[in-house]
Amino acid sequence: MIYFVGAGPGAKDLITVRGMKLISQADCIIYAGSLVNSELLEYAKPDCSVYDSAGMTLEEVIDVMVSAEKQALVTIRLHTGDPSLYGAIQEQIDILKEHELDFQVVPGVSAFSAAAAALSVEYTLPGVSQSLIISRTAGRTAVPEKEAIQSLSTHQTSMALFLSAGLLDKLSAELIEGGYAPETAAAIVYKASWPDELVVRTTVADLVQAGEENNIGSTAMVLVGDFLDSAYERSQLYHPSFSHGFRKATETGK
Ligand code: SAH
Repeated sequence: MIYFVGAGPGAKDLITVRGMKLISQADCIIYAGSLVNSELLEYAKPDCSVYDSAGMTLEEVIDVMVSAEKQALVTIRLHTGDPSLYGAIQEQIDILKEHELDFQVVPGVSAFSAAAAALSVEYTLPGVSQSLIISRTAGRTAVPEKEAIQSLSTHQTSMALFLSAGLLDKLSAELIEGGYAPETAAAIVYKASWPDELVVRTTVADLVQAGEENNIGSTAMVLVGDFLDSAYERSQLYHPSFSHGFRKATETGK
């Protein structure tokens, strides 16, 4: 069996219990060494074969998986954060299907969650924003035209941007062109949950300066939106005057 496992954002104890147990049973681990914390390999058996996919092609990764399957080994493909986001798992899954090999995906804590945790913020504040846009600026991987940052910005909702910390000048210009006021709150979270985590609060207009001053060029999330600094309404769910399936409203509403 081949398991695609989300390694979480970095901290060794932010992998799921299921993911950690699978690592401890694995005979073969292929991990994305550029971003996955190598401390996670400490959970592995001493005789587990370990491959760093940073220097491998898709074909080489598949070859390792196919040969491990022939030996009936337990293989783990360890991806950073949650594998469903910018993980390039689909192309691996489709080839494994062609080979009729069994696989399973185990989710992980994504960097967008770790970044919000580092800032102690909530993306979905009542009265401010009830949606989160997860996207990226176009880099070497193109972004479909209708998803350009300028278009997404028209929603003025909370945004969590991956793979964009090296393109802050472009990002800042596109956000403003799309309609965000230059003074809209923004934050850069570098290596969320790692020992050298860095949290920088800034504005959409000052993103470039904030990145330069703190020497941030990669492995960072950029968060944008009023959820970072706005007054909000308290939740209905926990309001004394609000009844729901598990609680009756008090008469006074207090
Ligand atoms: N699947 C991963 C994302 C992989 S793309 C996930 O769900 O988190 C790689 C990008 O993720 C990086 O360029 C950066 O934007 C972001 N990233 C990954 N780990 C991060 C971390 N610990 N802190 C901040 N950003 C991170």
